[in-house]
Amino acid sequence: MANSEKNKATVLNFHRVNHDDGGMDVDEFRRKMMFLKSHFNVISLPEMMQLITEKILPPLSVVITVDDGYEDSYSVITPILDELNIKGAFFITTIGIEQGLLWNDKIFNAIHRTSKTTIEGVLNRDQSIATKEQRKLAYQELHLAYKFMSLVEREESIAQLISILDVDVSDNVFLSKNKIAAIKSAGMTIGSHTHQHPILTMENDDDALQEIIKSQKILESITNNNIQYFAYPNGKFGRDFNNNHKEMLTTLGISCALATDWGCFTEDSDVLAIPRYTPWDKDIARFGIRLCHHFNKHKAQGHE
Ligand SMILES: [Zn+2]
Repeated sequence: MANSEKNKATVLNFHRVNHDDGGMDVDEFRRKMMFLKSHFNVISLPEMMQLITEKILPPLSVVITVDDGYEDSYSVITPILDELNIKGAFFITTIGIEQGLLWNDKIFNAIHRTSKTTIEGVLNRDQSIATKEQRKLAYQELHLAYKFMSLVEREESIAQLISILDVDVSDNVFLSKNKIAAIKSAGMTIGSHTHQHPILTMENDDDALQEIIKSQKILESITNNNIQYFAYPNGKFGRDFNNNHKEMLTTLGISCALATDWGCFTEDSDVLAIPRYTPWDKDIARFGIRLCHHFNKHKAQGHE
Protein backbone atom coordinates (compact mmCIF):
# COMPACT_ATOMS: atom_id res chain seq x y z
CA MET A 1 0.00 0.00 0.00
CA ALA A 2 1.38 3.38 -1.00
CA ASN A 3 2.24 5.67 1.83
CA SER A 4 -0.37 8.17 0.65
CA GLU A 5 -3.11 5.66 1.51
CA LYS A 6 -2.21 5.77 5.15
CA ASN A 7 -2.93 8.18 7.97
CA LYS A 8 -6.15 9.43 6.47
CA ALA A 9 -9.77 8.96 7.53
CA THR A 10 -13.22 9.81 6.25
CA VAL A 11 -15.74 10.86 8.89
CA LEU A 12 -19.27 10.01 7.79
CA ASN A 13 -22.30 11.88 9.04
CA PHE A 14 -25.78 10.43 9.59
CA HIS A 15 -29.04 11.74 11.06
CA ARG A 16 -32.41 10.10 11.66
CA VAL A 17 -33.04 6.76 9.99
CA ASN A 18 -36.72 6.12 10.56
CA HIS A 19 -38.46 9.39 9.83
CA ASP A 20 -40.99 9.88 7.08
CA ASP A 21 -39.20 12.81 5.45
CA GLY A 22 -37.68 11.01 2.48
CA GLY A 23 -34.37 10.42 4.27
CA MET A 24 -32.58 7.18 5.07
CA ASP A 25 -34.53 4.20 6.35
CA VAL A 26 -33.40 1.50 8.76
CA ASP A 27 -32.59 -1.10 6.07
CA GLU A 28 -30.43 1.33 4.16
CA PHE A 29 -28.55 2.32 7.30
CA ARG A 30 -27.97 -1.33 8.24
CA ARG A 31 -26.77 -2.26 4.74
CA LYS A 32 -24.34 0.66 4.74
CA MET A 33 -22.92 -0.22 8.15
CA MET A 34 -22.46 -3.88 7.13
CA PHE A 35 -20.78 -2.77 3.91
CA LEU A 36 -18.43 -0.38 5.72
CA LYS A 37 -17.60 -3.05 8.29
CA SER A 38 -16.68 -5.51 5.49
CA HIS A 39 -14.68 -3.21 3.21
CA PHE A 40 -13.29 -0.36 5.32
CA ASN A 41 -11.56 0.09 8.66
CA VAL A 42 -14.33 1.38 10.89
CA ILE A 43 -12.80 3.05 13.96
CA SER A 44 -14.16 5.26 16.71
CA LEU A 45 -13.66 9.02 16.86
CA PRO A 46 -11.36 8.80 19.92
CA GLU A 47 -9.36 6.09 18.11
CA MET A 48 -9.02 8.32 15.06
CA MET A 49 -7.68 11.17 17.22
CA GLN A 50 -5.24 8.82 18.94
CA LEU A 51 -4.01 7.03 15.80
CA ILE A 52 -3.47 10.25 13.83
CA THR A 53 -1.02 11.53 16.44
CA GLU A 54 0.84 8.21 16.27
CA LYS A 55 0.68 8.44 12.45
CA ILE A 56 -0.71 4.92 12.21
CA LEU A 57 -4.25 5.42 10.95
CA PRO A 58 -4.98 2.29 8.90
CA PRO A 59 -5.85 2.66 5.19
CA LEU A 60 -9.50 3.36 4.39
CA SER A 61 -10.31 4.40 7.96
CA VAL A 62 -13.89 5.55 8.45
CA VAL A 63 -15.66 6.99 11.49
CA ILE A 64 -19.43 6.98 12.03
CA THR A 65 -21.07 10.11 13.48
CA VAL A 66 -24.77 10.73 14.09
CA ASP A 67 -26.07 14.26 14.62
CA ASP A 68 -28.98 15.80 16.52
CA GLY A 69 -30.02 13.18 19.13
CA TYR A 70 -33.32 11.71 17.98
CA GLU A 71 -34.73 8.69 19.79
CA ASP A 72 -33.76 6.35 16.95
CA SER A 73 -30.12 6.96 17.91
CA TYR A 74 -30.94 4.70 20.86
CA SER A 75 -33.60 2.31 19.58
CA VAL A 76 -32.33 1.75 16.02
CA ILE A 77 -28.81 3.03 15.38
CA THR A 78 -27.03 1.95 18.57
CA PRO A 79 -28.26 -1.70 18.32
CA ILE A 80 -27.10 -1.94 14.68
CA LEU A 81 -23.69 -0.47 15.52
CA ASP A 82 -23.44 -2.67 18.60
CA GLU A 83 -24.20 -5.80 16.60
CA LEU A 84 -21.35 -4.94 14.19
CA ASN A 85 -19.03 -3.85 17.00
CA ILE A 86 -18.86 -0.28 15.65
CA LYS A 87 -18.34 2.57 18.12
CA GLY A 88 -20.13 5.62 16.76
CA ALA A 89 -20.17 9.22 17.99
CA PHE A 90 -23.48 10.94 18.77
CA PHE A 91 -23.83 14.74 18.82
CA ILE A 92 -26.82 15.94 20.78
CA THR A 93 -28.84 19.16 20.62
CA THR A 94 -29.76 19.22 24.29
CA ILE A 95 -32.98 21.27 24.18
CA GLY A 96 -34.60 18.20 22.60
CA ILE A 97 -34.14 16.28 25.86
CA GLU A 98 -36.58 18.58 27.68
CA GLN A 99 -38.86 19.50 24.73
CA GLY A 100 -39.09 16.10 23.04
CA LEU A 101 -38.40 17.60 19.61
CA LEU A 102 -36.39 20.30 17.78
CA TRP A 103 -37.42 23.49 15.97
CA ASN A 104 -37.61 21.79 12.56
CA ASP A 105 -40.02 19.16 13.93
CA LYS A 106 -42.35 21.93 15.05
CA ILE A 107 -42.51 23.20 11.46
CA PHE A 108 -42.96 19.66 10.09
CA ASN A 109 -45.73 18.81 12.55
CA ALA A 110 -47.49 22.16 12.09
CA ILE A 111 -47.70 21.65 8.33
CA HIS A 112 -48.61 17.96 8.47
CA ARG A 113 -51.08 18.07 11.36
CA THR A 114 -53.05 21.22 10.61
CA SER A 115 -56.58 20.97 9.23
CA LYS A 116 -55.99 24.16 7.24
CA THR A 117 -55.21 23.90 3.54
CA THR A 118 -53.37 27.22 3.18
CA ILE A 119 -50.57 28.89 5.10
CA GLU A 120 -51.70 32.50 5.07
CA GLY A 121 -49.24 35.38 5.10
CA VAL A 122 -46.03 33.46 5.83
CA LEU A 123 -42.94 34.41 3.78
CA ASN A 124 -45.09 37.29 2.46
CA ARG A 125 -47.63 35.14 0.63
CA ASP A 126 -50.33 32.51 0.93
CA GLN A 127 -49.17 28.99 0.26
CA SER A 128 -51.46 26.06 -0.45
CA ILE A 129 -50.81 22.89 1.58
CA ALA A 130 -53.79 20.92 0.34
CA THR A 131 -51.78 18.06 -1.16
CA LYS A 132 -48.99 15.86 0.17
CA GLU A 133 -46.60 17.29 -2.40
CA GLN A 134 -47.49 20.88 -1.43
CA ARG A 135 -46.94 20.10 2.26
CA LYS A 136 -43.56 18.62 1.43
CA LEU A 137 -42.55 21.69 -0.58
CA ALA A 138 -43.86 24.07 2.10
CA TYR A 139 -41.83 22.26 4.74
CA GLN A 140 -38.63 22.39 2.66
CA GLU A 141 -39.12 26.08 1.95
CA LEU A 142 -39.89 27.10 5.54
CA HIS A 143 -37.12 24.89 6.93
CA LEU A 144 -34.59 26.63 4.71
CA ALA A 145 -35.96 30.11 5.43
CA TYR A 146 -35.98 29.63 9.23
CA LYS A 147 -32.66 27.78 9.45
CA PHE A 148 -30.55 30.89 8.89
CA MET A 149 -32.48 33.10 11.33
CA SER A 150 -31.15 33.99 14.76
CA LEU A 151 -32.63 31.90 17.59
CA VAL A 152 -34.93 34.72 18.72
CA GLU A 153 -36.22 35.41 15.23
CA ARG A 154 -36.64 31.71 14.48
CA GLU A 155 -38.63 31.10 17.64
CA GLU A 156 -40.96 34.03 16.89
CA SER A 157 -41.48 32.87 13.32
CA ILE A 158 -42.32 29.32 14.37
CA ALA A 159 -44.70 30.53 17.07
CA GLN A 160 -46.44 32.65 14.43
CA LEU A 161 -46.68 29.67 12.05
CA ILE A 162 -48.16 27.47 14.77
CA SER A 163 -50.68 30.17 15.61
CA ILE A 164 -51.68 30.66 11.95
CA LEU A 165 -52.09 26.91 11.44
CA ASP A 166 -53.81 26.58 14.82
CA VAL A 167 -52.24 23.23 15.65
CA ASP A 168 -50.62 21.25 18.45
CA VAL A 169 -47.06 20.43 17.37
CA SER A 170 -45.87 18.66 20.51
CA ASP A 171 -44.06 15.36 20.10
CA ASN A 172 -41.72 12.98 21.87
CA VAL A 173 -39.18 11.88 19.31
CA PHE A 174 -35.98 12.76 21.14
CA LEU A 175 -33.49 10.97 23.38
CA SER A 176 -34.15 11.01 27.12
CA LYS A 177 -31.35 11.36 29.68
CA ASN A 178 -31.49 7.63 30.39
CA LYS A 179 -31.21 6.75 26.72
CA ILE A 180 -28.19 9.03 26.29
CA ALA A 181 -26.57 7.34 29.30
CA ALA A 182 -27.34 3.95 27.74
CA ILE A 183 -25.74 4.93 24.42
CA LYS A 184 -22.67 6.01 26.37
CA SER A 185 -22.68 2.70 28.29
CA ALA A 186 -22.69 0.84 24.97
CA GLY A 187 -19.24 2.33 24.35
CA MET A 188 -20.34 5.13 22.03
CA THR A 189 -18.97 8.68 22.17
CA ILE A 190 -21.30 11.48 23.28
CA GLY A 191 -20.63 15.01 22.03
CA SER A 192 -22.33 18.40 22.03
CA HIS A 193 -24.26 19.86 19.11
CA THR A 194 -25.18 23.08 21.04
CA HIS A 195 -28.35 23.56 23.09
CA GLN A 196 -30.78 24.88 20.47
CA HIS A 197 -29.03 24.19 17.15
CA PRO A 198 -28.37 27.83 16.17
CA ILE A 199 -26.23 28.82 13.23
CA LEU A 200 -23.45 30.12 15.51
CA THR A 201 -22.56 33.02 13.21
CA MET A 202 -26.14 34.34 13.54
CA GLU A 203 -25.70 34.80 17.32
CA ASN A 204 -23.48 37.29 19.12
CA ASP A 205 -20.38 35.74 20.67
CA ASP A 206 -21.79 35.68 24.20
CA ASP A 207 -24.99 33.91 23.14
CA ALA A 208 -23.01 31.48 21.00
CA LEU A 209 -20.76 30.69 23.98
CA GLN A 210 -23.77 30.10 26.24
CA GLU A 211 -25.29 27.74 23.66
CA ILE A 212 -22.14 25.61 23.74
CA ILE A 213 -21.64 25.75 27.52
CA LYS A 214 -25.24 24.86 28.34
CA SER A 215 -25.23 21.80 26.13
CA GLN A 216 -21.82 20.68 27.38
CA LYS A 217 -22.94 20.97 31.04
CA ILE A 218 -26.16 19.04 30.48
CA LEU A 219 -24.31 16.22 28.71
CA GLU A 220 -21.59 16.14 31.35
CA SER A 221 -24.16 15.71 34.09
CA ILE A 222 -25.89 12.90 32.15
CA THR A 223 -22.71 11.00 31.27
CA ASN A 224 -20.61 11.82 34.36
CA ASN A 225 -17.78 12.54 31.96
CA ASN A 226 -16.06 15.50 30.37
CA ILE A 227 -17.53 16.32 26.97
CA GLN A 228 -14.56 16.79 24.65
CA TYR A 229 -16.28 16.45 21.27
CA PHE A 230 -18.47 18.89 19.39
CA ALA A 231 -20.26 19.12 16.03
CA TYR A 232 -21.19 22.54 14.61
CA PRO A 233 -24.86 22.96 13.63
CA ASN A 234 -25.03 23.04 9.85
CA GLY A 235 -21.25 23.00 9.95
CA LYS A 236 -19.76 25.01 7.07
CA PHE A 237 -16.66 26.97 8.11
CA GLY A 238 -16.97 30.70 7.41
CA ARG A 239 -20.73 30.60 6.85
CA ASP A 240 -21.97 28.67 9.94
CA PHE A 241 -19.01 29.03 12.33
CA ASN A 242 -15.72 30.91 12.46
CA ASN A 243 -12.45 31.15 14.36
CA ASN A 244 -14.15 32.81 17.37
CA HIS A 245 -16.21 29.67 17.89
CA LYS A 246 -13.15 27.46 17.60
CA GLU A 247 -11.48 29.52 20.35
CA MET A 248 -14.56 29.17 22.55
CA LEU A 249 -14.40 25.39 22.21
CA THR A 250 -10.73 25.38 23.19
CA THR A 251 -11.44 27.39 26.35
CA LEU A 252 -14.19 24.86 27.23
CA GLY A 253 -11.84 21.88 26.94
CA ILE A 254 -13.27 20.60 23.67
CA SER A 255 -10.43 19.02 21.74
CA CYS A 256 -12.15 17.87 18.59
CA ALA A 257 -14.90 19.53 16.55
CA LEU A 258 -16.62 18.35 13.40
CA ALA A 259 -17.68 20.48 10.46
CA THR A 260 -19.60 19.47 7.33
CA ASP A 261 -17.03 20.80 4.90
CA TRP A 262 -15.86 18.28 2.32
CA GLY A 263 -12.60 16.39 2.80
CA CYS A 264 -10.59 13.63 4.45
CA PHE A 265 -9.11 13.94 7.94
CA THR A 266 -5.29 13.91 7.86
CA GLU A 267 -2.50 15.03 10.15
CA ASP A 268 -2.70 18.44 8.42
CA SER A 269 -6.37 18.89 9.32
CA ASP A 270 -7.59 21.44 11.84
CA VAL A 271 -8.89 19.31 14.74
CA LEU A 272 -11.46 22.05 15.47
CA ALA A 273 -12.89 21.92 11.93
CA ILE A 274 -12.70 18.28 10.92
CA PRO A 275 -14.32 17.70 7.53
CA ARG A 276 -17.04 15.12 7.02
CA TYR A 277 -18.22 13.39 3.86
CA THR A 278 -21.14 11.05 3.33
CA PRO A 279 -21.91 9.47 -0.05
CA TRP A 280 -25.64 10.00 -0.64
CA ASP A 281 -26.32 7.00 -2.88
CA LYS A 282 -28.94 4.54 -1.70
CA ASP A 283 -27.36 1.91 -3.95
CA ILE A 284 -24.63 0.20 -1.94
CA ALA A 285 -22.17 -0.29 -4.84
CA ARG A 286 -22.37 3.36 -5.83
CA PHE A 287 -22.03 4.32 -2.17
CA GLY A 288 -18.83 2.28 -1.95
CA ILE A 289 -17.39 3.59 -5.22
CA ARG A 290 -18.03 7.17 -4.23
CA LEU A 291 -16.40 6.65 -0.83
CA CYS A 292 -13.28 5.06 -2.43
CA HIS A 293 -13.19 7.88 -4.95
CA HIS A 294 -13.30 10.36 -2.06
CA PHE A 295 -10.19 8.82 -0.49
CA ASN A 296 -8.41 8.90 -3.87
CA LYS A 297 -9.49 12.40 -4.82
CA HIS A 298 -8.03 13.66 -1.60
CA LYS A 299 -4.69 12.11 -2.46
CA ALA A 300 -4.80 13.56 -5.98
CA GLN A 301 -5.15 17.02 -4.47
CA GLY A 302 -1.92 16.56 -2.60
CA HIS A 303 -3.26 16.37 0.93
CA GLU A 304 -1.26 13.29 1.77
ZN1 LIG B 1 -27.68 19.09 13.34
